[in-house]
Amino acid sequence: MILHVDMDAFYASVEIRDNPELAGKPVVVGGTPEGRGVVAAASYAAREYGVHSAMSAAKAVRLCPHAVFLKPRISYYAEISQQIREIFFRYTPVVEPLSLDEAFLDVDGSERLFGPAIDIARAIKQEIADSLNLVASVGVAPNKFLAKLASDLDKPDGFVVVPPDAIQPFLDPLPVKRIWGVGRVTEKVFDRIGVKSVADLRGLDLDVLQRYFGDHGQHLWKLARGIDDRKVIPDREAKSVSHETTFSEDIRELSQLRARAAELTDQVARRLRRADRKGHTVTVKIRFFDFRTITRSISLPHSTNETATLWEAVREILTSRLPEDRPPVRLLGVGVTGFNETKTAQLQLFETEPASSELDRAADRIRERFGGQSLGRGSSLLHRKDDDHRPGQLPPE
Ligand SMILES: [Mg+2]
Repeated sequence: MILHVDMDAFYASVEIRDNPELAGKPVVVGGTPEGRGVVAAASYAAREYGVHSAMSAAKAVRLCPHAVFLKPRISYYAEISQQIREIFFRYTPVVEPLSLDEAFLDVDGSERLFGPAIDIARAIKQEIADSLNLVASVGVAPNKFLAKLASDLDKPDGFVVVPPDAIQPFLDPLPVKRIWGVGRVTEKVFDRIGVKSVADLRGLDLDVLQRYFGDHGQHLWKLARGIDDRKVIPDREAKSVSHETTFSEDIRELSQLRARAAELTDQVARRLRRADRKGHTVTVKIRFFDFRTITRSISLPHSTNETATLWEAVREILTSRLPEDRPPVRLLGVGVTGFNETKTAQLQLFETEPASSELDRAADRIRERFGGQSLGRGSSLLHRKDDDHRPGQLPPE
């Protein structure tokens, strides 16, 4: 069985945990009360006003004028993310992080030691609550697709199990837009042909779906039946390490894209360093509002896991390799591939420190010791006006 663990309103929940006077208040992480910048996370109280992540702060202020705006502390959230991961690792080594606040866990090999998947899932959820004072929603299911769907279904504080023999009764009544990859455009087509639930979708033949959606059609056909063969791949075995994020509002501004890309790059670089991996191909993936997806890669002369080097490549792609008339962007991803296996094996064998640059090593250590506010990375591009050269900062734009 697969677990999908997803923290509830992660950034906002961390801030509220650390500042109890914020409990129950509409808290917005990212952006300013003057309406500059973008919402990175919104507490559930803020969501009641319609505020959500990736919304412009200007709109958030309009919707909820009394919201408390806080500066994101991405490095600090990354540390807590690491603490959460350590809880996962007590139960299984097969952990695939998707972002700072969510991960897939394969617990098939752990059941003999820790009991059924459901018990493991409960224990993890409980441990996150007890030791970190944070709430995770958990989905337990036979595959990734269903586990992710399940964790999202009863948020916040969700715990949803999809038994292997009850996949269809679970899926059929769900609105079709719950299915991964069904965005506004796909939904419009479904609207037109009267497909509302997953059961309706399942009623469509494969060739019909392929006629409407091309290659995506087969994918939808499988998902409607709960079929998903993707494995949970931990970073140490992965052929690529990537982070991507889907915006709830399409992004038009290049500056916003860059800011998000910088955060993703830093997160990917950190994951590489933690897993002692170095790659030489940097890929940016962009999905436009109409689901057209492009990927652009740059091959570096040497394998690396240095934030600054990876960021140079990402910035180069964003600056000069995107189409001129770039439509609004729905999804952005940053990935690194082309790992140098022998080097990795040696590093693991001798348990040496990851051979990242002095700067990155120092930055990682400072974060570990003093907490995230000490050094900003990706987020600094978003939120700092004065782009001076401080050690540990990305170069200014
Ligand atoms: Mg989350």
